[in-house]
This record gives sequence, structure tokens and C-alpha cells, in this order.
Amino acid sequence: MLSLRRKDIVCQQAVELVTDYLEGTLSRRDRRRFEAHLQACPNCSTYLEQIKETIELTGQVEPDDLTPQARADLTELYRRWRSE
Ligand SMILES: [Zn+2]
Repeated sequence: MLSLRRKDIVCQQAVELVTDYLEGTLSRRDRRRFEAHLQACPNCSTYLEQIKETIELTGQVEPDDLTPQARADLTELYRRWRSE
């Protein structure tokens, strides 16, 4: 289980929570944090939209189903977190 020690979650945590969020298995507190993050973060709301499109197309949530462009965007995102 992911531990969220800080009040606000960061992008990496949000990305890790997407699947649970869509499956409805997040705790109420984590869901609130996740949604608060999405509202403040265009990158993660775009990511969530891409995941939703993937689900509509394939009926399942698998990171491997992401488009190469989406994966490249995420890789770039992770790289920026590490450099900050
Ligand atoms: Zn984010």
C-alpha cells in the first residue's frame, strides 16, 4: 500500500493511484488527494484522460496499452521529478 505522508501528493504518486482510482478502490482520503492533485496538475489530468481512452478502447487498465507518445511523456515527467 502506498503511503502518503505529505498532505499533497506528487505526480508520481498520482500516476500510481490512477488504476486504483478508476477501479474505485482508493480510500476516500486518497481519492480526495488524487482529485485535488488532478485539478492542479495538467500533466496528470491529461494522463488520466489517456488512461480512460485506453480503457474505452481495450476494456482494461494496462500501462503497456498506453500509446508510445503517452509513455514518452510520462518518462519525461519522471525525469523532471528526479532532477528537481
Ligand atoms: Zn501531477
